[in-house]
Amino acid sequence: MKPMKATRILALLLSLGMAVAIAGCGNPNANTPAASTEPAPAASAAPAEEPAEPAATEDIHADIVVVGGGLAGLSAAIKARENGANVILVEKLAMTGGSSMRSGGGLGATASSVQKEYGIEDSNEAWKELWVARQETSPAESLYPDWERVDWLIDYSKTSIDWYLSLGYAFRRPEGFGVDTVERLHFPGPEGSGAVLTGFLGNKAQELGVTILLETPATELVMENGAVAGIKVAAADGERRINAKAVILACGGFANNPELLQRFTPDMAGYAAYTVSSPGNTGDGITMAEAVGAVPFEDMWVIGLGLATPVSTAASLYWYGNHLFVNMDGARFTDEGGHYAIVYNDAVYRSPGGSFMVFSSDAAFAGHVEAAETAEDAENVFKADTVEELAALMGVDAAKLAATIEENNTAAADPFGKPDAIRAKLETAPYYAIKYYPQNMGTFGGVKTTDNFEVIDASGAAIPGLYAAGEVCNRPFYNQVYMSGSALQLAGTSGQVAAESAVAYVK
Ligand SMILES: Cc1cc2nc3c(=O)[nH]c(=O)nc-3n(C[C@H](O)[C@H](O)[C@H](O)COP(=O)(O)OP(=O)(O)OC[C@H]3O[C@@H](n4cnc5c(N)ncnc54)[C@H](O)[C@@H]3O)c2cc1C
Repeated sequence: MKPMKATRILALLLSLGMAVAIAGCGNPNANTPAASTEPAPAASAAPAEEPAEPAATEDIHADIVVVGGGLAGLSAAIKARENGANVILVEKLAMTGGSSMRSGGGLGATASSVQKEYGIEDSNEAWKELWVARQETSPAESLYPDWERVDWLIDYSKTSIDWYLSLGYAFRRPEGFGVDTVERLHFPGPEGSGAVLTGFLGNKAQELGVTILLETPATELVMENGAVAGIKVAAADGERRINAKAVILACGGFANNPELLQRFTPDMAGYAAYTVSSPGNTGDGITMAEAVGAVPFEDMWVIGLGLATPVSTAASLYWYGNHLFVNMDGARFTDEGGHYAIVYNDAVYRSPGGSFMVFSSDAAFAGHVEAAETAEDAENVFKADTVEELAALMGVDAAKLAATIEENNTAAADPFGKPDAIRAKLETAPYYAIKYYPQNMGTFGGVKTTDNFEVIDASGAAIPGLYAAGEVCNRPFYNQVYMSGSALQLAGTSGQVAAESAVAYVK
């Protein structure tokens, strides 16, 4: 997407006649910029000369405003447009995509037409069985998952896949991922990842006439007579209002907001720097909805993604799994080759203050040694000729660290269940340690909704005209463990359903 400043975009819309109130859902191509496969419709329709800046009091109008341009928002915008609504999508950053764009782009789905095409046997029951087993590894009790909603998502996933196919999107042969071997993840075909998915949908949205405003953060929901009447956005020259009969919040989670992490997931607050989620994801959907009576979920959590290090040369070592992770006592706390969400939780609960990746100069660790030897971040890399000296540098108990390594080298079976294929002995000096911290790729939380993704208030009643989709309302589907492919599927599915609910409301 070509970035466009909010003031200029709004000026262009106004000059193009987009400021006319849209009274109902009609022809999808009415009252919108010309259909185009170019990513920036307002830009492509721009007159040669710079239009006059609209007065700050001028507002623009739509049937439905979607806030956030990740998978949930783009899916919602397209679905609403297909159903005849005039739609404006506002995106805070200079490009659409959000965390969805950063992801692998693999939508989890069972019994899909694509799986059938490739002869892959799968069922709702098989995914549910894995979902139950995985959630049972959650270290804490929780109100969630809400299994009825999980069942619904699993069942809807094949419908969702068919909808993307109907838009002309192509999947390659579904794949397994890591410890989840069933070929259930529907990646873009023939290759590519999340950016292909969101790029396709961004273009499709504009082709269908959705107006996308970049660098246009929503700041507030506008309420009139107890119902949503639009949003306020922060334009470069001040605040503007977009009037709409319904608003779909698709702003992602709060992984980049230290204050909200402190408030909702205090155990994670110290690790705010270690998120790979989109920088736009600062929980705006939660705070805007809360201001009009929405209810945040209880016991929020994050989507764990194993451990990360400040040492840039060591960024990918985590995925080898053959090293040992030890805590500040020098003890192991996890199966280093296990599911990354489980390793994350083990680190949070059993390795407070950070962890050390420990390895040796044995051949199995050649890549590790190279990363350590080329690191510029001496503060977080430790090297010694003996385990005792290494422990002293790390500040952990020497006897404990020595016992941990001895057990790894001699136990017939790994005490944490690590498969033999990725076990390795630490026998050859020098020995190394690198500091690691829990890393997340988003959050489990947001605001409560009905099954149709209407945002609800404290009494359980839907707030008229307010909907949510994606990470801004994903809490009911998990305890503390992410399911590969489920977050994207939820974003897409909830976007579609929220849009259908919103269209039914505005009609
Ligand atoms: C690196 C990475 C890898 C991942 N891998 C996978 C995977 O393989 N499979 C899987 O299922 N999940 C994966 N996930 C998780 C998954 O991608 C997300 O949970 C999901 O994409 C969230 O979609 P969303 O549309 O709700 O939010 P996002 O895609 O994050 O979109 C939210 C958008 O809202 C915008 N926004 C926020 N506030 C405002 C505002 N006030 N006004 C306007 N716009 C706003 C943001 O800038 C952002 O563009 C991964 C995540 C990351 C970061």
